[in-house]
Amino acid sequence: MPDPFAFDLAATDGDARAGVWSTPHGDVRTPAFMPVGTAGSVKGVMPEQLAAIGSSQILANTYHLALRPGADVITDLGGLHAVMSWEGPILTDSGGFQVFSLADLATMTEEGVRFVSHVDGSKLFMRPEDSVDIQAKLGADVMMCLDECPPLPCEPAKMADAVDRTTRWATRCRDRWNELDRLTAGGDPQALFGILQGGVDPAMRARSAEGLLPLDFPGYAIGGLSVGEAPAEMYRTLEATTPLLPREKPRYLMGVGTPADLVNAVMRGVDLFDCVMPTRNGRNGSVFTSGGVLKIKNAVHARDTAPIDAACDCPACRRGGAGAFSRGTLRHLFLAGEMLAPILLSLHNLRFYHRLLADLRAAIERGEAEAFAAAELAKWGAGANVAATNPPPGDPVRTQNGA
Ligand SMILES: [Zn+2]
Repeated sequence: MPDPFAFDLAATDGDARAGVWSTPHGDVRTPAFMPVGTAGSVKGVMPEQLAAIGSSQILANTYHLALRPGADVITDLGGLHAVMSWEGPILTDSGGFQVFSLADLATMTEEGVRFVSHVDGSKLFMRPEDSVDIQAKLGADVMMCLDECPPLPCEPAKMADAVDRTTRWATRCRDRWNELDRLTAGGDPQALFGILQGGVDPAMRARSAEGLLPLDFPGYAIGGLSVGEAPAEMYRTLEATTPLLPREKPRYLMGVGTPADLVNAVMRGVDLFDCVMPTRNGRNGSVFTSGGVLKIKNAVHARDTAPIDAACDCPACRRGGAGAFSRGTLRHLFLAGEMLAPILLSLHNLRFYHRLLADLRAAIERGEAEAFAAAELAKWGAGANVAATNPPPGDPVRTQNGA
């Protein structure tokens, strides 16, 4: 039987990869960015709009859906593809990151994680096996292992404990997944990805890879980054980590990042991304353009008749042609509290991310990834104003030989 999650490398250029990843709900051309639909919806954006702007795979959050409406309810509603009205591939996270992001509401033991619901204060105990069971009920194409994601900086001994626990939990997740696979034969197959931890220490990343690779997951994620470390540290960590991973399987960098992060990570061998940044920033009036970041609510745009970006083909910009929304109009809609404004800016930012990776993919196929990356990163230098996760001035584009 053919592998339902086959990953074919169409082209490589240095460490950068252009792939085609098969799933039961269609192919994903990588590198690819997954919009985040935390509660089962990419906020404010219709599924057909997502498809039109180039989204191929989307992400939903296990922790949030387990609390509300509950995994059994999702099953009764026909599964996550029906709930999200999305025919393409879907990935669910495991809940592990919420232990980090909702630290006040979570306690961890070897057995699992106890959450106090941020919705109604009720208690949820999630073992690794429970995370897999919940994700099986949600029915996404890809499930993630429950992991321990320690905040950075982290004491070496504590990091080693987190890496080793993540390996033990990955073993439990895989065992449960294998059981379910037998029990639910006939349904759509689901893949389970392992998550590497280890912070920014190459030795810890190697320890994590040593523990996880024998478990032979269909794909591997790099977790525990973009949690407070400097971008240059994240890039160095990726350089040390991706060579440890199997060449013939997809590599997913979780929760990252800025446009510069995406380019830097693809140049270091990453295939898949997710991040709330394009939609969250869009809802807050901040857009990515070919000229840098633009704050649409600023007074300077009050009578600005230009679109956000005349080079953009999104529903807001329309390449600056007929029907394009001007910056002045969008500013007015934001200040008037009109819901159309955050929707349009979310669409614009997602389109920006998808186009960036599609253009980078084309450059990889032409063997011009390095020149493309250098030109893109020059736009996102010191003046680009993309908050703290932007690379510092002078952070070099890594060349193929690591110079
Ligand atoms: Zn646009």
